[in-house]
Amino acid sequence: MTVIQQITVLGSTGSIGVSTLDVIARHPDRYRVYALTANTRVDLILPQIQSCRPRFVVMRDESAAQQLADQLKVLGDSETQVLAGAAGLLQVSAAGAVDTVMAAIVGAAGLEPTMAAVDAGKKVLLANKESLVMAGHLFMQAVARSGATLLPIDSEHNAIFQCMPARHQQGERHSLEADGVRRILLTGSGGPFRQTPLALLADMTPDQACAHPNWDMGRKISVDSATMMNKGLEFIEACWLFNTTPDKIDIVVHPQSVIHSMVEYNDGSVLAQLGNPDMRTPIAHALAFPERIDSGVAALDIIATARLDFEAPDYQRFPCLRLATEAVSAGGTAMTVLNAANEIAVDAFLEQRVRFTDIPVIIEHVLTGIPAIEPESLALVKEQDALARAMAQQFIRSSLSR
Ligand code: NAD
Ligand code: MG
Repeated sequence: MTVIQQITVLGSTGSIGVSTLDVIARHPDRYRVYALTANTRVDLILPQIQSCRPRFVVMRDESAAQQLADQLKVLGDSETQVLAGAAGLLQVSAAGAVDTVMAAIVGAAGLEPTMAAVDAGKKVLLANKESLVMAGHLFMQAVARSGATLLPIDSEHNAIFQCMPARHQQGERHSLEADGVRRILLTGSGGPFRQTPLALLADMTPDQACAHPNWDMGRKISVDSATMMNKGLEFIEACWLFNTTPDKIDIVVHPQSVIHSMVEYNDGSVLAQLGNPDMRTPIAHALAFPERIDSGVAALDIIATARLDFEAPDYQRFPCLRLATEAVSAGGTAMTVLNAANEIAVDAFLEQRVRFTDIPVIIEHVLTGIPAIEPESLALVKEQDALARAMAQQFIRSSLSR
């Protein structure tokens, strides 16, 4: 008999959150939603509450929490308790009744709730790559200390995980060399601007940047895919998740997004994970691991797929890739700074305060301006994050605002 798993979905109104609830709803015999969380969108979370009947719902925004509580009262729903703010997020991440936490808040806002789930030793399904980029060292230390189970949701990292040797999948952190792994091939589609003439990039709009050829995602990660900073963040994420060094990871552009990444062994074998580009596959994989469950994703039609192309990444077109590798080489809080400056630059681009091509300029300015130090504590990481955000905002105001 399967014991029903209680799940907290952090960021339930987002793209990953919605896909997670879709998979959960297919398996009422296995999963129950313990808590849902969102930032401000009462209209999006209300129908989720009505279909999942969670014990708790958290709105990060206090006035949204009040609004939601009022609406639930009118509807006569007294099953779900509404919590507010950062404390509410920590509570539903660490609660004793919770088995699994889906960490799908976007950006640095996901760090503390995700860490709370890690510290409480939960099974953590990690979509929020920014928390590993910001504080990878402290994050992985906390996983080791608490015995939390960490499973990657990012499609590439989930693919790599699936191609890894069995003992790595079981959570033993051997060096990859000892297990015969020669290198990781991290694939990326190249995004919507892979072939756009370079001279036109400066005029690309937020809607053009968010029109990803293969994936339907939130706006921040969509812009990251257009600059390929997403691949840069994933490069850093892979170093932490798989206990390896940057020289063992190669980025490969694969426009069809059918292969989600590969692992090469020292006998010459290259293992790949393939599938339709639909996040419900990695979500279902991680939810049920080590078992397999239906995800609702259509079977891959390999004949219709017909061809798989591969190219080397273009560092001139995608300066964010270079910046991410420079931050890895600088080490320490350089990755915190990279992530923070990127979040501010992407926000400013989405609000049409800066051009698409300003994004790497902003990040480079901040990365050069703040020396990397050892990330000794979360407090220090947060301090460097705030410093980088302030410097990015200041640079945008003084040098770039349109
Ligand atoms: P999204 O923008 O669609 O959703 C973000 C969610 O986070 C929403 O529920 C929102 O309410 C919540 N949120 C936003 N700001 C918040 C704050 N300050 N405090 C608390 N909650 C807040 O994003 P998404 O595309 O679902 O991405 C979520 C995470 O998953 C990101 O870290 C992204 O990099 C990662 N990821 C997404 C995909 C994808 O296909 N969408 C793939 C791989 C990884
Ligand atoms: Mg990815």
